Amino acid sequence: TGRVAGKKAFITGGAQGLGAAAGRMLAKEGAKVALADLNLAGAQALDVTQEDQWIEVLEKAASDMGGLSVLVNNAGIGGDGPIESLDFGLWKKVMSVNVDSVFLGAKHALTHMRAHQPGSIINLSSIAGLIANGNSPAYNASKAAVWLLSKNIALYCAKMKLDIRSNSIHPTFIDTPILDGFSAWFGKEEAFAKLARQVPMGRIGEPNDIANAVLYLASDESKFMTGAEIKVDGGISA
Ligand code: NAD
Repeated sequence: TGRVAGKKAFITGGAQGLGAAAGRMLAKEGAKVALADLNLAGAQALDVTQEDQWIEVLEKAASDMGGLSVLVNNAGIGGDGPIESLDFGLWKKVMSVNVDSVFLGAKHALTHMRAHQPGSIINLSSIAGLIANGNSPAYNASKAAVWLLSKNIALYCAKMKLDIRSNSIHPTFIDTPILDGFSAWFGKEEAFAKLARQVPMGRIGEPNDIANAVLYLASDESKFMTGAEIKVDGGISA
């Protein structure tokens, strides 16, 4: 029983942060869950930029779980800086981890998902995929790419008469290790207070604020929703 009972979910970047929270939430609501990440305990090893690894790991997850019905493209990185000083290698890395991952994941998951419809592909973009910030061009551009790639996948599946949906989630600042950079500069408390002042609701988010959106998109409660975006941002984009 549960809101996603019988679903078989594969989550990238599942070792910590939003991926781990989404994994716990989906499992609590009845799904079978496979977590993948770079070499970290408790998760299947997968570098989301490597096509051969995707093929192998999805094969194994689908065979272990008895199919695949939900893909959460959650792995992502930031860490880039202002355009004039941004190293080209770091630009390419952010683009690859954030965008190639969604392309490769969707491409190879569809092979398995078409056998276990209905399916749902959930792509972690960001408010930074909708609103530019002047500090992180690679993160901005990559998350905007995720936003439209997610819609492209949605329209493709609908046109192919597949009952497989694709939607994106756009968080603002959420308390996960991805914010460690800010904390290192100012100290965690001051860093979080600075970020919170930018959010109309006056706080940064909790991982479960995002996991709840993942749960909704993974469940059949959202069965008529595809090509859409959910902003979970305390009003920052309003
Ligand atoms: P996080 O840094 O805590 O976790 C990201 C995970 O992705 C890590 O476990 C990391 O090992 C993994 N990862 C990185 N590169 C990978 C690769 N090449 N292959 C496989 N796994 C890889 O970050 P988070 O806050 O949990 O973020 C999850 C997603 O949500 C990201 O896409 C991020 O851009 C997005 N997001 C986060 C926030 C936030 O404030 N936390 C806001 C907006 C969007």
